[in-house]
Amino acid sequence: MSIDWEKEVSHRSDELINDLSELVSIDSSRDTEHKTSDFPLGPGPAKALQTFLHFADRDGFDTKNVDNLAGRIEFGDGDDAIAILGHVDVVPEGPGWETNPFDPVIKDGNLYARGASDDKGPSLASYYAMKIIKELKLPTSKKAQLILGTDEESEWVGINHYMEKETMPETGFSPDAEFPAINGEKGIVSFRVTFPTPTIGLVKNFVAGIRPNMVPQNAEADLDLNIMQAEVLKAKLSEFLKANPEVKGSITIDGETAHAKIIGKGAHAMEPFNGINAATYLAKFLTTLDLNDSEKQYFSFIADELHLDFAGKHLNIANKDDVMGELTLSPNIYEYNLDNASILLNIRYPKGDTGDTLTEKINNSLPDNISAAIEGHNQLPHFVDENDPLVQALVGAYRDHTDDKTTPPFTVGGGTYGRILKNGIAFGAMFPGDENVMHQPNEYINIDKLLKATAIYADAIYRLIK
Ligand code: ZN
Ligand code: ZN
Repeated sequence: MSIDWEKEVSHRSDELINDLSELVSIDSSRDTEHKTSDFPLGPGPAKALQTFLHFADRDGFDTKNVDNLAGRIEFGDGDDAIAILGHVDVVPEGPGWETNPFDPVIKDGNLYARGASDDKGPSLASYYAMKIIKELKLPTSKKAQLILGTDEESEWVGINHYMEKETMPETGFSPDAEFPAINGEKGIVSFRVTFPTPTIGLVKNFVAGIRPNMVPQNAEADLDLNIMQAEVLKAKLSEFLKANPEVKGSITIDGETAHAKIIGKGAHAMEPFNGINAATYLAKFLTTLDLNDSEKQYFSFIADELHLDFAGKHLNIANKDDVMGELTLSPNIYEYNLDNASILLNIRYPKGDTGDTLTEKINNSLPDNISAAIEGHNQLPHFVDENDPLVQALVGAYRDHTDDKTTPPFTVGGGTYGRILKNGIAFGAMFPGDENVMHQPNEYINIDKLLKATAIYADAIYRLIK
């Protein structure tokens, strides 16, 4: 039986757009300030989850709401199940919107709203894919489970709770990335490098970075004008800025303190070379001044061992894998003051390394009075072979519905829900060459492409469960 998946999608396109419009009208960003026992992440994420599950109840699916933190929509026969892992939470709206981010607008074939592409649109496309297979009453030998998280953008509280309470299938995909497929994700780990408690000299305070996974755009230092004169500092900075035109900088005077600031460019820590790390530049500038021993050790370490070394060569952790590419190093949070001196490194590593091997390599490269330890959760590299039947089935469905017969599946340094499943990959819904508007102001999804993705998902899911 040959099924015209595109035609089946087009019969349901109005309904899909209506449901999507309702879903993106809910501000489902994490809002723990308003949490209650019923809404552990605030009311928004739970409301989006309930709305999505309500669509599925309306359409006759089996649904389960797991404590307002995650949910499941299921259909199909047999004991085995495949999983489709999406999320209904969004990042906060942020500045720069031309329309209300929670009042969807359709313009030039695009639907604009926070969550349109990450990940309400693709999750709903996967849902409609399941709905088509169900409504066509196609025979199935497995179940399909759409499992929805409510905290993907932060700490994965929802999906982790689901895994504690429910059984997670071993195979499946996450519609939260790109076609043809992402079959590998690097390991992700942060290290805190701790220095001896400083003796304060010229630098009274040095601070940069807000999130472990973001290259710091700004870095600031308070300098003691009793140790160096304002005019000397200003002259040294302008010399530094001339030699490093990629950054901006300033010195402002406040009593006996000179406030030095460098502005670089933020970026995702998985691609640190796309940013300009303000902190390593400011540290480099500080090494041109009169420093005491504590300051010399801290700032020279940043300038000599971290500045522009995105591969971690100086820390002796550089590593490259044929399929997953190079390890990346991004030093993202800095603290230097009376009480402590430390740096938080975010590392994305390919197969071949573990948290233990990295801990050993880094500490071996450090002087005795500096130490590094893993902070937070170490996520191991995740990889599914390109020739695995899962990858073959999904990429095959993508190829059969597009003119793209050649783009291979690829690996990234980021982390999607795909890595939760033993045999899981990320699959769509962006197409090669699409502008990535996730987390950006004026986020949108192109409606024709959303419908195309729905047809691909329907065909792909059916290949997995028939
Ligand atoms: Zn997402
Ligand atoms: Zn996201």
